[in-house]
Amino acid sequence: MEAVDKIWLNGDLVDWADATVHLGAHALHYGTGVFEGIRCYSTESGPAVFRLRDHLERLEQSARLVRMRLPFSVDELHAACLELVAANELPECYLRPIAFYGAGELAVLPRGNPVDLGIMCWPWGTYLGEDGQRLGIRAMVSSWRRVGPNTIPHAAKATGVYLNSMLAVDEATRNGYDEAILLTDDGSIADGSGEHVFVVKGGVIRTPDLSASILPGVTRDTVVHLARELGYEVEETALIRSDLYQADEVFMTGTAAEVTPLRSVDDHELGVGPVTREVQEAYLDTVRGRRAAPPGWLAPVEPASALLG
Ligand code: PMP
Repeated sequence: MEAVDKIWLNGDLVDWADATVHLGAHALHYGTGVFEGIRCYSTESGPAVFRLRDHLERLEQSARLVRMRLPFSVDELHAACLELVAANELPECYLRPIAFYGAGELAVLPRGNPVDLGIMCWPWGTYLGEDGQRLGIRAMVSSWRRVGPNTIPHAAKATGVYLNSMLAVDEATRNGYDEAILLTDDGSIADGSGEHVFVVKGGVIRTPDLSASILPGVTRDTVVHLARELGYEVEETALIRSDLYQADEVFMTGTAAEVTPLRSVDDHELGVGPVTREVQEAYLDTVRGRRAAPPGWLAPVEPASALLG
């Protein structure tokens, strides 16, 4: 991670090196945090944060699902994210808001612990690599199952859940693959360690529905919208692993991964096909303001000088 100048912490901009957390922070011990991953892109009219409000509303929903009360409103966090990017003068970056139970009591129940809220941003290139985005990545179906809906509410982007993702991607990379695909306990496809999965067959695009222990993905929603706009039929439906092996194309989506083709799953070779390319291009055009988007999808970053003046 490349250090930048400032981090937003509990309402103030602090120096990167000063944004530290006490060893007694509840979230460090029990994974009691909720967070977001957001991207800011360069557009013709300056940097703009993609679907910022949607991400922050999901953060609020995540907190609600784990019964955490956020100390700032969506409007306040919206302004804070834009202020932070402006302060760091970054044309493109990744933003990571995180709310977590801080230091206080260390019982499992965070009774009276403060909810700390920080936002970091830093330049972060393609998550699965430039080559991955162009030529496709190799994925394997993990032996680790996705946390079930009655274990942890999967609509919450909660820090503790990522141990599940970490084990899966660790297993995949140890076995020479780039990314993992996790199944639900009943064998349906859930998602990647940090991405959603889309399968293309006979010109129809399919992706697991929200009951498959997945996050309500912002990129997933964007891609469904764009694919329909491009004239594709898109179905949200249960999928199984052989749907991956028999697909014409498979791709993954995520704020970090954007639209990344899969060139194989469990060594079943897949082509990096025209549908994935078309959706990928539409996505990259949308986030950089080159393609008309619904109102509110691009939140412009005012230069720091304008904020001061
Ligand atoms: N699945 C998981 C497990 C994730 O962590 C992410 C990243 N937030 C995604 C899917 C993709 O979601 P989004 O498009 O909202 O970034």
